[in-house]
Amino acid sequence: MKNALPDKEITGSLNNVLEIDLSLKTFSKFIISRRMRKMYLGGKGLGLKLLYDRLKPGIDPLGEDSLIVIMTGVLAGTSAPCSGRFHAVFKSPLTRILGSSSCGGSFGRRLKSNGWDGIILKGKSEKPVTLHIHNDKVQFCKAANLWGKDIPETQAAIGTKKQESLVIGPAGENLVRFANVAAGHRYLGRGGLGAVMGSKNLKAIIALKGDYKVVPYFKNRFQKIKDRANKYINQNHVSLLMRQFGTAANANPIIKNNMLPVNNFTYGNHPDAVKITGEAIKENHNTRHHTCKPCSILCGHKGVFNKRLTNVPEYETLALLGANLGVFDPNDISRFNDICNKKGLDTISSGGTLAWVMEATGKGLVKTDLKFGSSHEIVKALNSIADLEGFGRQMAKGSRALSSKFGGKEFAIQVKGLEMAGYDPRGAWGQGLGYAVANRGACHLSSFPVGFENLTGLLNPHTIRAKPEFIKFFENINAAVNSMDICQFTGYGFTLETWLIRMTPHLILKLIMQNLPTIAIALVDFSLYPKFFSAACGIDLSSKQFLKAGERIHILERLMNTNEGIRKDDDTLPKRLLLEPQKDDPRKRLVPLDPMLEKYYKLRGYDVDGLPKKSLLRKLEIIM
Ligand code: SF4
Repeated sequence: MKNALPDKEITGSLNNVLEIDLSLKTFSKFIISRRMRKMYLGGKGLGLKLLYDRLKPGIDPLGEDSLIVIMTGVLAGTSAPCSGRFHAVFKSPLTRILGSSSCGGSFGRRLKSNGWDGIILKGKSEKPVTLHIHNDKVQFCKAANLWGKDIPETQAAIGTKKQESLVIGPAGENLVRFANVAAGHRYLGRGGLGAVMGSKNLKAIIALKGDYKVVPYFKNRFQKIKDRANKYINQNHVSLLMRQFGTAANANPIIKNNMLPVNNFTYGNHPDAVKITGEAIKENHNTRHHTCKPCSILCGHKGVFNKRLTNVPEYETLALLGANLGVFDPNDISRFNDICNKKGLDTISSGGTLAWVMEATGKGLVKTDLKFGSSHEIVKALNSIADLEGFGRQMAKGSRALSSKFGGKEFAIQVKGLEMAGYDPRGAWGQGLGYAVANRGACHLSSFPVGFENLTGLLNPHTIRAKPEFIKFFENINAAVNSMDICQFTGYGFTLETWLIRMTPHLILKLIMQNLPTIAIALVDFSLYPKFFSAACGIDLSSKQFLKAGERIHILERLMNTNEGIRKDDDTLPKRLLLEPQKDDPRKRLVPLDPMLEKYYKLRGYDVDGLPKKSLLRKLEIIM
């Protein structure tokens, strides 16, 4: 007989993590302590902590000792805006340091309905399997019939009624270093989680509808916070642009500021770039919302491309698989996007890698048919990467590995092995520092100063002043937000629509942020996040504790990376961005990285080699 409902209510979290051994086909329960919850919050933070306690440095990311941790946050399953997200952390086969990826697909909420806050996966199945999770039971099912199927075929075979899944495609099975994982129509893209699942012979994880219901610990308080959060989102300019045009809303301001990567970051703009703006796509492709759930910003869209209703490519895809490859026809870019989504490839790394191959082909370093603007060849190349055919076998290792083997490192646009996102930092120097020091490589989500240097115009893009202070702050707050696990895009509404900011004229705000960054940062009100946390799970958390948790999470990730061998020399940018101006920039600007890096190290408490100092680790209680 089923338990009565009160026993099946979760107030924020049950703190249960499902530990699954794929080699032994066994599973057990691990319980997260209240202290650990408060220190690492959930999502990315708790995922990292669980990994740190279990993963030996130096292991092969695609070997049997490799681990995957998938974690939800305390808001998953509640009706808080943009809160249905979950995180995966793992050692990346692309970068060989920590990989992490966030996703808004419904898998996390469905997992939680079974009474689990997360999953730790270890070992390796001898033969292809799928995992079926239902309440306190886990079934290991043979998946030979699914192996070789692409993502839509696998999802169709699994079915979507009452279940949500994480699925890999052929790229994951073939260990493509930047293979992604699908959760419904959303993806865990960066760093090659798909290959790690493939290396474990794990085709899919399926969470059936469980018996648990998530309810906030303080219901009335939660409702009031939620109302305020939605009010802020609904009056915020950037959130409203994303609601209308998706992440492609970024394209227009990026183009205006000459920051669009064109032809492997050679140019910052193109006469046809206007075709890939959010405005043009909305007008020409009959777009409509197709989002994560629950969501109040609504940035996800689908639209009609090549006479078919499909996902609208995200800004990053338009930039990296489009402009950066010399392609500006949204129908062509949509076709590339669909191939990546079908085969299971990260669009940013695919674009960065193909751009390197195009340039290397032109310079005679490799022999391929790829050249900028060659849409037909791009289609063939993406398929060849996923299926490891011909030169696809080399491309499947990413741009760092290619340039190490064939030469051309200076134009491999990657940091720490991860291909760069779609914002040329020569147009926004804070973003340059952000890419150089981000833990997972050239990542735009670790800190996103472009949001202030460009989209809101609150920081001057071409100065080094205030950038180290803001990068540190953004990294800390984003680490905490990603551990809630709530969408980072809430940051605009939650912080910029507070009373103090709304009352302060834009020019004054800009002057304070640019000239008095420490004071500006101290005045930022991000209290909605810890208030949501406390109302959801009943654990008191102040704004100060929330930010400190973010710092702890960021520094723990840095420590794990330095344990893997990361040092100061790795905190840099590709030579092209440091020494070679964009061909269409009359002012010939480059990223002045060194002075920003020096100040950032001091603020962070890293030693001269880039290692977090022992005193910092003790202060953050990472070590005792
Ligand atoms: S804003 Fe976009 S990415 Fe964030 S939760 Fe909503 S649909 Fe997902």
